[in-house]
Amino acid sequence: MAFEKLNLAESLMRAIQERGYEKPTPIQEQAIPHIIDRRDVIASAQTGTGKTAAYALPALHLLQQGQGKHWPRVLVLSPTRELAIQVDENFQGYGKFMNLRTALLYGGVGYGKQNQDLERKPDVVVATPGRLLDYLKRGALRLGKLQILVLDEVDRMFDMGFIEDVTTIVNKTPRTRQTLMFSATIPDAVKRLSQWALQKPVEVAIDIKISPAETVEHALYPVAGIQKFDLLAALLEQVHFESVIIFFKTRAGTDRISRWLKAHGHSLCTLHSDINQRDRAKALSDFKEGKFKILTATDVASRGLDISGVTHVINYDVPQHPEDYVHRIGRTGRAFKEGFAYTFFSSDETELVLSIERFIGLELPREKLDNFEYRKETVAPVTPEAGGRKKRNRGFGAGRSGRRRRGF
Ligand code: AMP
Repeated sequence: MAFEKLNLAESLMRAIQERGYEKPTPIQEQAIPHIIDRRDVIASAQTGTGKTAAYALPALHLLQQGQGKHWPRVLVLSPTRELAIQVDENFQGYGKFMNLRTALLYGGVGYGKQNQDLERKPDVVVATPGRLLDYLKRGALRLGKLQILVLDEVDRMFDMGFIEDVTTIVNKTPRTRQTLMFSATIPDAVKRLSQWALQKPVEVAIDIKISPAETVEHALYPVAGIQKFDLLAALLEQVHFESVIIFFKTRAGTDRISRWLKAHGHSLCTLHSDINQRDRAKALSDFKEGKFKILTATDVASRGLDISGVTHVINYDVPQHPEDYVHRIGRTGRAFKEGFAYTFFSSDETELVLSIERFIGLELPREKLDNFEYRKETVAPVTPEAGGRKKRNRGFGAGRSGRRRRGF
C-alpha cells in the first residue's frame, strides 16, 4: 500500500517524503484509516513497528482539519521521559510543514521551559503522568477541550504503577474525546482499562510473534553464572558490532558490570532509573550520535526508545517477563533491518528461557562461543518443552555459517 492511499494532508505527505518512508508499516496501514474516521482504537504493536507515526500522523491530520483556538487538542501520555521526548520529536518532525506547537512535560527537571511551552498554547502536549498531574492540580493546564487522547505503552504504565494517575487524567478529559490506546501486549488489566476508557474501539493487532523472528537473529548462550562476565568480554572481542545495548536485571548489576567493562578498556554509557534525568538524556544522545558504541541499561531503555542502527542486543540476564524479551530485542532490527540478539543464561534462569520460547513461539538456538573455555558447571543445552507453535528461526541450525558469521 502507498502512503497516498491514506489521504493524509499535503503537509504531512511532504514530511513523510522528506523522511524517506516508502510505504506505511502494517500498524500504520491498519490504524490510520480508523483514526482518521475518528474511531477509538486499541492497538497491540511492539515498538519498532512504526507505531508512533501510526497515531501521530492521523492525529496531526485531524488537527489540521479542525477549527478553533482551543488547546491542547491532542494529549499523548507516555510512561517514561525518554519515550515522551522521542514522541515529541516525532510530532515536531511530522508537523514541520504545519504551524504546530507542542509542549513536552516530564518530571525530574525544572519547570521553566515547560511553563514557557504551555504559555504558547500548544496544540499537542506529550507528557508523563506525574508532571502532567502536577500541572493539572495547579490549574496551569486544562484538558476540557481535548479532542484526541493517546495512551502509549499502556502495559508499561501498569508495570510502573502509573495506572491510578492515568485514570485521574482520563477523568479530566471530555467524554467526547477520541481515545487511542497502544500497548505491546494486551493483558487483562489493559483490556479492562480499554473497556472503561474507549468507546466501541477498533482492535488492531500486529502479531507480536512475527516481528522478532523476522528481523532479528537470536542465540542463547548457556553459561555458569560466575562466567557470565568472561563470556561477555570474549563475545565483545569476537563480535564486530556497530552499536550494542547490554541489558541487566538490576541497577546495581548494570553499574558493576559497566565498571568491569570500563576496566577492560571499553568506553560506554549507562541508562537506568537511579541516574538523574540530565545524565540519562545525555547518555541516550551520546549513544544515538555514536559517541559510544556500548550502552548498558536496565529495562528503562528497553521500551519504546527509538535507537536506530543498534546492531546487537545482549541480555546479560534473562528478562524476567517474556514480553520484556520482545521489548529488549525490539532495540535491534528496527524498521525491518537485521539485528542480533544474544541472551546469556545460567541454570537458574532456565525456566525464564522456556517461558520466553513459549511466548514468542520459537525455539531459540543454544550456542557455544568459539575459543572460550567453559567451566564444567555450565548448563547443558535445554530442549524447549513440547507443544505450542514451533518455528525455526531462519539463519540458525547446522551449518549456520553465512548468516551468523555476518554478525562477527
Ligand atoms: P516506532 O515504532 O514508532 O518507534 O518507529 C520505529 C522507527 O521506524 C522509527 O525510526 C521511525 O522513524 C521509523 N518509521 C516509522 N514509520 C516508517 C515507515 N513507514 N517507513 C520506514 N520507517 C518508518
